[in-house]
Amino acid sequence: MNPLSTSIEYLKGIGPHRAEILKKELKIRTYQDLLFLFPNRYIDKTVFHKITDLNQENSEVQLKGKIIDIKIISQKIGKRLIAKFQDDTGEIDLIWFRGHKWISKKTIINTKYVIFGRLNWFLSKPVINHPEITLESSFIKENQLNIHPVYPSTEKLIAKGISQKIIKNAVKNLFDKIGNNFSETLPEYLINKLNLISKSDAICQIHFPKKNKQIIDSIKRLKFEELFFLQLQLLRKNMNHKLKVKGFFFNNVGKLLNTFYKKHLPFSLTNDQKKAIKEIRNDMGTGKHMNRLLQGDVGSGKTIVAFFSILIALDNGYQACLMAPTEILAKQHYQSLSVFSNKMNLSISLLTGSSKNNERKIINDGIINGSISILIGTHALIEDKIIFKNLGLAIIDEQHRFGVAQRSKLWKKNLIPPHILIMTATPIPRTLAMTVYGDLDLSLIKELPPGRKEIKTYLKNDSKRLEVFKFISKEINLGRQIYIVYPLIEESRKLDYKDLMDGYESICRYFPLPDYRISILHGKMKSKVKDHEMNRFIKGETQIMVATTVIEVGVDIPNASVIVIESAEKFGLSQLHQLRGRVGRGNFQSHCILMCSYKTSKEAQTRLNAMVKSNNGFEIADVDLKLRGPGNLMGTQQSGLLKLKIADILKDQKLLINARKYANKILIDDPGLNKNINLNIKKAISIRNKEKNLWNYIS
Ligand code: ADP
Ligand code: MG
Repeated sequence: MNPLSTSIEYLKGIGPHRAEILKKELKIRTYQDLLFLFPNRYIDKTVFHKITDLNQENSEVQLKGKIIDIKIISQKIGKRLIAKFQDDTGEIDLIWFRGHKWISKKTIINTKYVIFGRLNWFLSKPVINHPEITLESSFIKENQLNIHPVYPSTEKLIAKGISQKIIKNAVKNLFDKIGNNFSETLPEYLINKLNLISKSDAICQIHFPKKNKQIIDSIKRLKFEELFFLQLQLLRKNMNHKLKVKGFFFNNVGKLLNTFYKKHLPFSLTNDQKKAIKEIRNDMGTGKHMNRLLQGDVGSGKTIVAFFSILIALDNGYQACLMAPTEILAKQHYQSLSVFSNKMNLSISLLTGSSKNNERKIINDGIINGSISILIGTHALIEDKIIFKNLGLAIIDEQHRFGVAQRSKLWKKNLIPPHILIMTATPIPRTLAMTVYGDLDLSLIKELPPGRKEIKTYLKNDSKRLEVFKFISKEINLGRQIYIVYPLIEESRKLDYKDLMDGYESICRYFPLPDYRISILHGKMKSKVKDHEMNRFIKGETQIMVATTVIEVGVDIPNASVIVIESAEKFGLSQLHQLRGRVGRGNFQSHCILMCSYKTSKEAQTRLNAMVKSNNGFEIADVDLKLRGPGNLMGTQQSGLLKLKIADILKDQKLLINARKYANKILIDDPGLNKNINLNIKKAISIRNKEKNLWNYIS
C-alpha cells in the first residue's frame, strides 16, 4: 500500500479524535490529504518592526521589546487590560478584553518579549489587541525566526483546540515519517524549459519556506502541475473519443447543401461562419464522432451554421434534431429554421412539453418512419418514447443548462451516436471554456454580420422616465419596435408582477390607442395567448412589447431597435447582455436603456458600467467571471472541474493557457505517452488513476 494513503489518525499528534474533526472540517483523511493541505498565506517572522515606523499600511507586525507597565482599566462596558510595550524607538499599547487574570499573572515586567499581532489604530495611535506574546528566550529556543505557514482552518477546529500549531506540528511529523522524496511527475525538459522547481522541493518548501522566493516558486510549480494534468486529461479524453467512438461517415457533400447555398442563402456568410461550417463538415466526414462546441456572441449568426450542419446530415440520408433549454427558445429556433427548410421543402416539426397528445403521436410516427427529417424541441426530445429512424446529428443549444448526463442520453438512442454540436449563446471566458468544455473541439464565431451598428447603451435613473418615453415615441414614429423588460425574480414574484402590471398601465397611458398598440408577455399567461401576443409583435401589429425575461433567449426581430430594461440592477450580467442582444439585429441604429434606481449596490454598479462600456460578450463574460467566480458562472453541474486544489482559473489564466499548450504539444508528439522522455507523466497518470482521490472529478 502507498504510505500516503495511511489514515492521519496514526500520525503523531493527531489520533482518532482529532482525525475525526479534521475529516469533518477540512476533508483531511490521509497522509496525502495533509500533504496537500496548502497554506492560505504566510507570516514572515524573520522581520521585526520598529514602533516609530509603524503606519497604516502595516497589518500584522512583529515587535521586540519590554512590557514596562500593566494595568486593568474599568470602562462603562467591562474592563480592559492594557500593557505598555516599549522598544528602543517608542511605545505602544497592548490590549486584552478577556483573560486578564492569566495574562497579568504570566507577564513579567521589564523582560524581553517578542510580540506579534494585528495592528489597529485608536485616536491615531497604534495598538495591538490580543497579541501573541513570547519570551524572547523561548522564541529563540523554539526557532520561531521563520516564515510561518497559515493553514486553512474553521471555527470548529479552533474551538476544538486544533490550532495552527497543532497542524504545523502534524505536517512536520508527517515529513519526519515519510521523508521528502516525492516522485517527479513532470518531464525533465519541461521543468527546465519553464524554469520550474522539482516536485519534492515544491512540496517541502510550500510547507517550510525559508525565503519568500521559495514560496513563489513552489506555488508556481504546483499550480502548473495541477493545470497541466487537468488539461492533459481533457485533451486525452477528446483524443480517445476520436479514436474509439465511431461516428456516421457523412461524405456526401450534397445536393441539399449546394442548392440552399446557391439559391436560398439570404445573405453572404461571414468568414467565421464559413470557417465553422467547414470545421463541422470536416468532423462529420471523417468517420469519427463529432463533439464540437460552437461558441458565438448573441446575434453572431449561429442559426445558419446549425442549419448547414443539418443539411449535411440530411444530404447523407439521416435525420437531425435541435434541443433548446426553454420552450420559447425551441419555438424561436423552429420558426427561424422553418423559414430556411420550407424553401427546401424539408419536413420539420416542433416537440415541446406543451405539445398535445395527438400532435405527439403524429410526430412520434413521423420520427420513427423517417417522414420527419428535422425535429426541434425541448427536453421532450430525449424522452424514451421518441425513437428516431436514423438520427445523424443532434444540436444542443446549451446555455449551461444541459448536463453531460443529458447529453449522453441522446447517445443511447442509437448504436452509433449522432454527431453532437453544442451551441452556447453566452460567451464564456477563454480559460473557463478550456476547462469546462476542454474535452470538446471548438468553433468560434467572433465577428458579427456586416452592417451591424454597435448598440448604444445608456444608464438612466428612474427620474428620467419621461425623457425615455419621448425617445421611444420618436423611434416608433420612424417605424421601429420597442421592448420593455421587467425583472421577474423568484423570491419577489408578487412584487415584480405588480411592477410589471403598473409599468404596463403607465405605458398604455403614455402610448394610447389608436396610434399605439402594445403587447404584453409574461409567464402567467397561457401558452396560446403568449403565442398570439408574440406573433402580433413579430408581424409588426404592435409596436411595444412589455415583457418579463421570457424574451431573453433567441427572439429575433430585426425591426426592434430599442430595449428598455427596468430595474436593470436586479439582472445578472450575462442576462443583461442576452437581453441587449434582442436589438441590433437589423440594420438600424439600436439602443439599450438600462433603468435603475438610486440605490444600487457597488457590484450592480460595476455590472451596469460594464454594459455601458462594452458590447463584446467575451469582455462582459470576463467581468462576470471576476464578479461571481467560475463556479457560479457555470452553475453547479460542471463545478467539480473547477474545484482545484491550488490553481485558480481566474487568477492563473496565463499558466492555464501554457499548461494546455504544452499538454497539447506533448500529446501530438507522443499520443500514447510512450516515449522515454514522457515516462514521468505516464507514471503520474497511472498513480492518479489508481488513487483517484485528486482526479475522480474527471469522468
Ligand atoms: P445567434 O448567434 O444569436 O443565434 P442568429 O443566428 O439568430 O444569431 O442571427 C442573428 C441575426 O443575424 C439573424 O437575423 C440572422 O438572419 C442574421 N444573420 C446571420 N448571419 C448573417 C450574415 N452572414 N449576414 C447578415 N445577416 C446575418
Ligand atoms: Mg440564436
